[in-house]
Amino acid sequence: MSSHITPDLLTTKPNTKPASRKITVLGAGIVGIASALYLQRDGHSVTVIDQQGPGEGCSKGNAGILATEYMSPLATPKTMRQVPRMLLDPRGPLCIRWRYLPRLLPWLLRFMACARPKTVAANGRALAALLTGSLDAYWPLLDQAGAHPLVHANGWVYAYESEKSFVADRKERELQRQHGTNVKELTDSELHELVPALSPRLRRGSLYPDAAHSVNSFRLVQVLAEDFQRRGGLLQRAIVTDVDVRDRHRIRVLTDAGPYETDTLLIALGAWSGKLAARLGSRVPLDTERGYHVMLPNPNIKLKLPISFTEYKFVATPMEHGLRLAGTVELAGLNAPPNYKRAQVLLDHARELLPGLDAAGHTTWMGFRPSLPDSLPVIGRSPHHANVYFAFGHQHLGLTLAAVTGRLVADQIADRASNIDLAPYRIDRF
Ligand SMILES: Cc1cc2nc3c(=O)[nH]c(=O)nc-3n(C[C@H](O)[C@H](O)[C@H](O)COP(=O)(O)OP(=O)(O)OC[C@H]3O[C@@H](n4cnc5c(N)ncnc54)[C@H](O)[C@@H]3O)c2cc1C
Repeated sequence: MSSHITPDLLTTKPNTKPASRKITVLGAGIVGIASALYLQRDGHSVTVIDQQGPGEGCSKGNAGILATEYMSPLATPKTMRQVPRMLLDPRGPLCIRWRYLPRLLPWLLRFMACARPKTVAANGRALAALLTGSLDAYWPLLDQAGAHPLVHANGWVYAYESEKSFVADRKERELQRQHGTNVKELTDSELHELVPALSPRLRRGSLYPDAAHSVNSFRLVQVLAEDFQRRGGLLQRAIVTDVDVRDRHRIRVLTDAGPYETDTLLIALGAWSGKLAARLGSRVPLDTERGYHVMLPNPNIKLKLPISFTEYKFVATPMEHGLRLAGTVELAGLNAPPNYKRAQVLLDHARELLPGLDAAGHTTWMGFRPSLPDSLPVIGRSPHHANVYFAFGHQHLGLTLAAVTGRLVADQIADRASNIDLAPYRIDRF
């Protein structure tokens, strides 16, 4: 070793900026854009490739909730007990296209296996670890983009029709409190004082006063993407068809607009990430929980904060351009056409739960939630290729978890210690 090289120059110091790399992010949804921004903050030269404009995928039409309290995985004994009733009810929150069942079956079996109490507890802890820092990770990105007006931090409320379902969620509230979430239980009159527009059918509530929501989740991605470009980031529109990892430092992304060379790759293609992950040696049981929204431009009622109708499993969110009703799960894969009767179900329920609602001029939308059976995303390095990373599978929480995911990915690429153990989100956990 020559005498002027000190050991310090040979190791990566924690909490320092890494050497600049050429990084390509596949996917301009909220997860890809938030990750690109964090990578850019580390001084990397970042390009994002998407077949559409930023936020045009699932990130376009979500309910907008930064749901930091949502720490129970979907597969639980309670869900399993509810599934048969939900499936039998044509106005219920869950439906399966039976033609898709053979392809869905392996995912469903894993989902059922995740409902074992020990697994639920472990997955809940892993979700909570991400959720705890999720809002804090957003503020620097909102600050630098001037996007604060798009996020309102005035809480949200779960409304219950029956005392029985309110009591049934007691364990969830306990878990939330254990993880530091502020939750206030509301009586009938407290609930109606807070949300006068609610039907008297709703009798109990849980208020999360510290929660936040985006008043336009699509515009949020666009504003963040504009900030990324203003700071020198490149946005390329192309369909990614394949990836060829030549060696540790040379990766070729194949697109319909020609090949693209990079030295580090992040796959953040949401529900469409599975194929490329498999091409890179990592098969994952990624499927999609399709969800719908109805947007009411002049709803004729005013909500100060979003409401979750817990028994009906959908959300009403006040947005800058109207009221959004969003939710339901449809298991039908990526190729079947939308069934907008599912959106009509949301509207039918909302008319009963929010009397006086005006639906004139409403529009509908369907999006593909990227979902793994254990309700945890994939975040981290490929076990097969040193310079390939993944960030997908954020299911019902992609908006909430995007910024913290971006921060964790940037930490890992920089070899910087982070305060969250990434083992539960590894791609080879299945
Ligand atoms: C009804 C509904 C309500 C929701 N409500 C909430 C909520 O309140 N809070 C919350 O946190 N989350 C919510 N979600 C979930 C959230 O919207 C998703 O988890 C999130 O949008 C996923 O973001 P993403 O960036 O991973 O994927 P996406 O936004 O889908 O982005 C993936 C991108 O990859 C691109 N792409 C795909 N294939 C290719 C290809 N071959 N080449 C190039 N580009 C490609 C697509 O064009 C797309 O832009 C909701 C979802 C739905 C459906």
